[in-house]
Amino acid sequence: EYKGMSKARMMEIRQQNCSPMTMKVTYYKEPVFIHQGYMQWLWDVDGRRYLDLFAGVATVSVGHCHPKVRAAAEQQMKKLWHTTNIYVYPTLHEYCEKLVSYFPDPLKVIYLTNSGSEANDLAMLMARLHTGNYDIITLRGSYHGGSPQAMGLTSNAAYKYPIANGLGCTNTMCPDVFRGPWGGSHCRDSPVQTTRECSCAQGTKNTAMQLSVHSSNTKCCMIKSHDEATLKCICMANEQYIGQLQETLATSVPTRIAAFFGEPIQGVGGAVQYPKNYLKQAYKLVRERGGICIADEVQTGFGRTGSHFWGFQGHDVIPDMVTMAKGIGNGFPMGAVVTTPEIAASFAKGIHFNTFGGNPVACAVASSVLDIIKEDGTQKVSLDVGSYLMVELAKLRDKYEIIGDVRGKGLQIGVEMVKDKVSRDPLSHQDMVEIFEDVKDMGVLIGKGGVYGQTFRIKPPMCITKEDADFFLAVFNKSIQNYMERR
Ligand code: PMP
Repeated sequence: EYKGMSKARMMEIRQQNCSPMTMKVTYYKEPVFIHQGYMQWLWDVDGRRYLDLFAGVATVSVGHCHPKVRAAAEQQMKKLWHTTNIYVYPTLHEYCEKLVSYFPDPLKVIYLTNSGSEANDLAMLMARLHTGNYDIITLRGSYHGGSPQAMGLTSNAAYKYPIANGLGCTNTMCPDVFRGPWGGSHCRDSPVQTTRECSCAQGTKNTAMQLSVHSSNTKCCMIKSHDEATLKCICMANEQYIGQLQETLATSVPTRIAAFFGEPIQGVGGAVQYPKNYLKQAYKLVRERGGICIADEVQTGFGRTGSHFWGFQGHDVIPDMVTMAKGIGNGFPMGAVVTTPEIAASFAKGIHFNTFGGNPVACAVASSVLDIIKEDGTQKVSLDVGSYLMVELAKLRDKYEIIGDVRGKGLQIGVEMVKDKVSRDPLSHQDMVEIFEDVKDMGVLIGKGGVYGQTFRIKPPMCITKEDADFFLAVFNKSIQNYMERR
């Protein structure tokens, strides 16, 4: 019984009266009936405790029911819930001033929305109005939302409907150095690198471990020093993927475009990271074509990548626009767009109205989230615990044939599962589910993702500890062992 309602009755209502998404997705064979949450923990109605490493898809940023967020919401609820911003009330102004201080110049103007899809819809509209161009480029495997407009940006068949969604959106090859046609052992900015052999032009084959051994071999394209070798390796894969973007620009869109959208690290796509410099070079090409560059920080923002507050900072770029949601409100419905005064001026020619965007309770909540990130040091937790997790997971990758790749930054982590390391064929859905269910049965909730559903996603509330990480590592190790024993 849960609030007087049986599990069976909830499932009946889910089938008959809830949205198709709710009907289809219970995520597990036996649904998890949640009773309560606190920080990194969830309890089900039978009193079982779960370590939540998925955080409602990277949404619960500072912890379930964080006491300070709850206090901020409660305080605001006592005073005022709503204004539609037709009257002037402090919370929106306090929050916008605070949020803007986290961005580099010239990102100065904030628009508050209620979700990530809404933020991306707005970003598409603003980019088109500002540039006078229509076409938008995104990366394959990306997820930018489910509204008909944002669905055009999204590049994952599972989330597409057979309608003319998001006209003018073209998806280009994702620079995925593990699964894509070109890879390399030192291509991405992560505490762990792929073990995939380097695909440098001379055909030299070096694994990450062999790299230092080969570093003095002058026949190898990775000559002289380790650093130069690394640089060379980065350039080769990156050049190939940038070449693909150039080809898309030459063949699939008009000569002038409106925008390029990119997640700093793909979320739904399975924590896919691009080679260092990819975004920097992509931004340059896009700007040359009259387009603006938009970073979708819905999953990667608010310190999740550990090394930086925003994911784009890890790519050494400054976007013209950034979209946010999820972690911005620690689970409270909210989204935002930040852009430059110049782009905002183009948009100011009409009236943009949003009934709930900038709601006083949402602003109070989001403001407390920013305070907590500072006070609780959550960005450092992301960096420390995230790096530890990845390094330890990489040890499991080296131990088991079915763990193909471990990647990510901070607490945005992907573990890509394969049939074997040579073919890199994705592990079957059935096998993924087997491991996934086992991990849950041992008390840990993780996510699934990747275009082929082949990647486990780990993106917990940023309050987890090293002990939690160790618990998960033991559980994950055991689940793989169980899987092997059953074979
Ligand atoms: N962008 C990214 C990167 C996302 O992960 C998501 C949601 N998964 C969205 C946009 C859409 O956000 P929402 O579900 O709040 O509309």
